[in-house]
Amino acid sequence: MQPRSSRLDTSTPLKYVKGVGPARAEMLETKGLVTVEDLLAYAPFRYEDRTNIKTIAQLAPGEMATVVADLQSAHLRGFRRRNIGLFEAIFKDASKERLLTKWFHGGYLVDRFLPGVRAALYGKIELDNYTGDLLMMHPEFEILTSDDSDGDAALDASLHTGRIVPVYEAAGKVTTRAFRSLVHRVLESIAPLEDDLPAALRERLKLPDRWTAIRSLHFPSPGTDLRLLNNYRTPAQWRLIFEEFFWLECGLSLKRAKARLQPGISFELNERVREKIKAMLPFKPTGAQKRVLGEIAEDMKAPHPMSRLLQGDVGSGKTLVAAEAAVIAIENGYQAAVLAPTEILASQHYFYFKNLFQKMGYVPALLTGSNTPREKSQLKKLLAQGFVHIGIGTHALIEEDVEWKKLGLAIVDEQHRFGVMQRLRLVSKAKHPDVLVMTATPIPRTLALTIYGDLDISIIDELPPGRQPIETRNVTDDHVESVYSFMKQQIAQGRQAYVVYPVIEESEAMKAAQQMYQHLSQKVFPDIRVGLLHGKLKADEKETAMDQFRRGDVKILVSTTVIEVGVDVPNATVMVIEQAERFGLAQLHQLRGRVGRGAEQSHCILVTGKLGDSARERIRTLVDSSDGFYIAEMDLKLRGPGEFFGTKQSGLPALRIANIIRDQDILELARGEAQAFITNPPTPEELRRAVTYLREHWQRRYGLVQVG
Ligand code: ADP
Ligand code: MG
Repeated sequence: MQPRSSRLDTSTPLKYVKGVGPARAEMLETKGLVTVEDLLAYAPFRYEDRTNIKTIAQLAPGEMATVVADLQSAHLRGFRRRNIGLFEAIFKDASKERLLTKWFHGGYLVDRFLPGVRAALYGKIELDNYTGDLLMMHPEFEILTSDDSDGDAALDASLHTGRIVPVYEAAGKVTTRAFRSLVHRVLESIAPLEDDLPAALRERLKLPDRWTAIRSLHFPSPGTDLRLLNNYRTPAQWRLIFEEFFWLECGLSLKRAKARLQPGISFELNERVREKIKAMLPFKPTGAQKRVLGEIAEDMKAPHPMSRLLQGDVGSGKTLVAAEAAVIAIENGYQAAVLAPTEILASQHYFYFKNLFQKMGYVPALLTGSNTPREKSQLKKLLAQGFVHIGIGTHALIEEDVEWKKLGLAIVDEQHRFGVMQRLRLVSKAKHPDVLVMTATPIPRTLALTIYGDLDISIIDELPPGRQPIETRNVTDDHVESVYSFMKQQIAQGRQAYVVYPVIEESEAMKAAQQMYQHLSQKVFPDIRVGLLHGKLKADEKETAMDQFRRGDVKILVSTTVIEVGVDVPNATVMVIEQAERFGLAQLHQLRGRVGRGAEQSHCILVTGKLGDSARERIRTLVDSSDGFYIAEMDLKLRGPGEFFGTKQSGLPALRIANIIRDQDILELARGEAQAFITNPPTPEELRRAVTYLREHWQRRYGLVQVG
């Protein structure tokens, strides 16, 4: 370890900072903290006001409070094995009152709460039922008499108490307290940071400079509003959040501009092609469909590859727009590909396109995992020779040995099921084909533009005419008989119904679906034809089941979630979802979207058992609203961005201080400013500086590999 702390700069590795060393450096690295710059950007997740700490005597049950007190006694109840048992400790402060604290599984605390320890405790104040003492269950704590200090008691006292203190998420054995000391030391020994945000921007938005902002992020000045701090809305925090989004958006914008310059196909959209499209359309497109097709057509005409995301709620008519785009490609002598996440959906698309394109004389082909090897090689040959105009399929379509004569347009349905990699693989089948991605998981526009950073976005925000909102009800499973009689009524009026079982394990759901199929077809609806559909059926069995339902021969389709996406039977007006509490919001909304596709009033019935809090919230959201954007937003809030977007493949960048949900308003603003700055920089020199800064500081973190 080198005593170099007097000459720290932002690029200094943390292991060279006094007091860190190799072991701690490793722990810090688990949080992505490698350099001094990383450490300074490591935002506290909470702040505590320890300026005027209440005494225990002043506390009232129900409030959240911080207490600084000395340990009186502690013991572990119950099991002797470590980490099991209830750890209880009694604290006293100057007011001489007692505060009881308890931790379940608190065995690990035995070594930390030693006699004589002083601690800061943060948590909710309750009353202990037995003793009548004030109680904190599982408080967050910080041991103030600790050996991870520098032994400078005066400094320690002023860092960890008597002020608003930052609370950091620990990294291994690097506690919040150790972070506090470390950040403090670094701030003391580093030269003031320069500010790389464009000066004009800083002035116009009245942003504090970077150095001031970083210091008050970690050590807010006395009197700072604690509520603002904990909502991340002090001027300092606001600036740092804005800054992170600003650079991210600049990076995206540059990357996108570069991609747009690649050579691509310039499709012609003349009168002849327009006439073809008109001839193909089975109904008048909605205004939104027209607008969106206009956007797509502009992209297709341009001599650069299109990368466009088409967002629209379930049932908004995305497929029709995709078909129009396919006509443009095919009439220009190119082939089109349609990639779908499931076989059911792929074959659904196949029928849809086959129908639409029959009169055009286009040849469609369906390629899925359940084709026989002979069929497969036959289909591949037709694709490679260019006899197939539109190839539709699942993953089988992007296998290595699938070749195209002249692929011009790739349509990818239901984006959230496909990773970026798969999209790229399809694109690699040809020289920069145009790409249209369709998704029914609508998310707020700015968010989408950030997450799908490389895609332009078109939104269908209008449903085809004559649609009535689906009526959604929640019925408990002890009233399921009423649901059955309702289904009978609807079927008597000529309608059809789905009954869906949740998939946790497809085999388990299959059993449930099979049993329910027996039960419904024999006991409940002996006079009505009931069909069964699940993932374990062979492809042709699935197709038969779907076909019978589509034709109306089968009135009730009992199914697992294989029908979740894309199935389109307008005469079906009832969707019964069993054990609805086991589904996620987006999934429920998708399932519900299978009905309400015709002119008749449709119904969605959510049959539930006992509901937990979050399940109740999901069910209520669905009963209250059928707006896909609202539901997606709730989903995002309930689940958090990580789970909502799936894994890293979603391309969601790892942000440091900004939070893509909490800070949407700032993101919006930063995006606008970034675009204005990139397209219209104050001086070329400033743009160059920004690109350099971006490359040196942000590229690694955001994976903005090709910026600049
Ligand atoms: P999405 O893929 O967006 O969920 P679809 O493309 O499957 O929606 O369309 C849903 C239903 O609405 C289909 O039955 C489709 O034929 C019908 N549809 C689409 N556009 C229109 C329109 N402009 N007018 C009437 N019906 C339409
Ligand atoms: Mg669809």
